[in-house]
Amino acid sequence: MDNPPSERSRASKAAVRGDRVERRLIMDKWVCTICGYVYDPAKGDKESGVKPGTSFETLPDDWVCPDCGAPKSDFEKM
Ligand SMILES: [Zn+2]
Repeated sequence: MDNPPSERSRASKAAVRGDRVERRLIMDKWVCTICGYVYDPAKGDKESGVKPGTSFETLPDDWVCPDCGAPKSDFEKM
């Protein structure tokens, strides 16, 4: 390994900063006002092919509640 220690610490600091921004974006849970289903970004929605770590805001516009089929507009931020 030729990497000087200073290079490595700089890289890991940047990674931490990026991680923090992403985590703040995705941590909001949204609840379906029709049936009470909670969309948890940490889990995503496997049945609809939504990967874990997908924020509610970045879900496709045609995504619907997996329990009752309500559109995104029927969800409220928790
Ligand atoms: Zn629902």
